[in-house]
Amino acid sequence: MQINILDTYHPRPHSLNPVMKQIAVLGSTGSIGTSTLDVADAHQDRLKIFGLAARSSWEQLAEQTHRCQPAIAVLTDESLSGSVDHSRFHPDTKLVFGAEGIEQLVTAADVDMVVSGIVGAAGLQGTWKAIEAGKDIALANKETMVVAGPLIMQLAKANNCRLIPVDSEHSALFQAMLCGRREEIKTLILTASGGPFRGKTAKELESVTREAALNHPTWEMGPKITIDSATMMNKALEVIEARWLFDFPAEKIDVVIHPQSVIHSFVEYVDGSVMAQLSPPDMKLPIQYALSYPERWEGVSPRMNWKSGFQFDFETPDREAFPALDLGFEVAERGGTCGTVLNAANEVAVERFLAGELEFCHISRLCRDILESHDYHPSPSLEELLTLDEWTRKETYSWKL
Ligand code: MG
Repeated sequence: MQINILDTYHPRPHSLNPVMKQIAVLGSTGSIGTSTLDVADAHQDRLKIFGLAARSSWEQLAEQTHRCQPAIAVLTDESLSGSVDHSRFHPDTKLVFGAEGIEQLVTAADVDMVVSGIVGAAGLQGTWKAIEAGKDIALANKETMVVAGPLIMQLAKANNCRLIPVDSEHSALFQAMLCGRREEIKTLILTASGGPFRGKTAKELESVTREAALNHPTWEMGPKITIDSATMMNKALEVIEARWLFDFPAEKIDVVIHPQSVIHSFVEYVDGSVMAQLSPPDMKLPIQYALSYPERWEGVSPRMNWKSGFQFDFETPDREAFPALDLGFEVAERGGTCGTVLNAANEVAVERFLAGELEFCHISRLCRDILESHDYHPSPSLEELLTLDEWTRKETYSWKL
């Protein structure tokens, strides 16, 4: 009998008749959500959208129900229940509201996998309910791990759920980690584009505008994550996300600037080998991989063009200009209540910056102040974290220089 050497290393049965996976998309009108619908469109023989959830963009949600005819559509903003025009939705779609609507969607027996793409701490509850119901998660909402990483991982283990990262860096790490055993891994290295202010000094960053901060060089994303990218808080949150998702201590995680955003992250093994994942920057690929894992399907995103010349650059991040990075490593190391506080403080700080109430350089300063003034606890419960989240938001709204 002829043995294929690849089969001996990766005994990975491919199903000849693809199994239809039914998915629920939380945050369907956002950038992750709309990309997920594109992926589902391209793989209609394998993916069926069972349900969609959005916060308040009901007209866009109504259009989406005609595109993929889900069984359920959820608007989490309950105040809209009186004003929404139900006739605009697909007649076979049941429209429900609020957190209960989300619960109804993610616990539905038909759902195999939940794409968690709601921005910010708001995404935690739906993800939590989905894991409790034993659903696999395609995790695009990094705040879930930042706020409650250890509790989420515990819950996922208890309910036998798979958490597959969608964040491009973590998807890359996840793929590169398949090349060896975890005890053979030396360092997880997250790449960062450096954002629109790469190369600027701390002094120069004192006078940057909102418009400049919203102008990301390589990724097209929502406003919150674009500002996080400019402050490098996004990378700080990703360090914390990696710490809990992969259960690696902070000292085994590192960050390097790679402005082209093509190498999405890499893993260094003990023998010195480095395994990376590369592709043009497009979220459809990590979304698809989370949905197709452990298989790989024909891609819907742009591909690398190996025939044209290109070069990759790497730089060490400037920690003085981007103090958010240090915050990320500190919080990843301390754990406990720190992730919840950093995340909530940053969410409100970004909101205040976008409203013109704060300077760009105040965002990280504010986060540090609130973090240092909070009542630290090493192993909080979910209720304690939610109370602390509220406290943090209140403190951050009233923070003054
Ligand atoms: Mg990312």
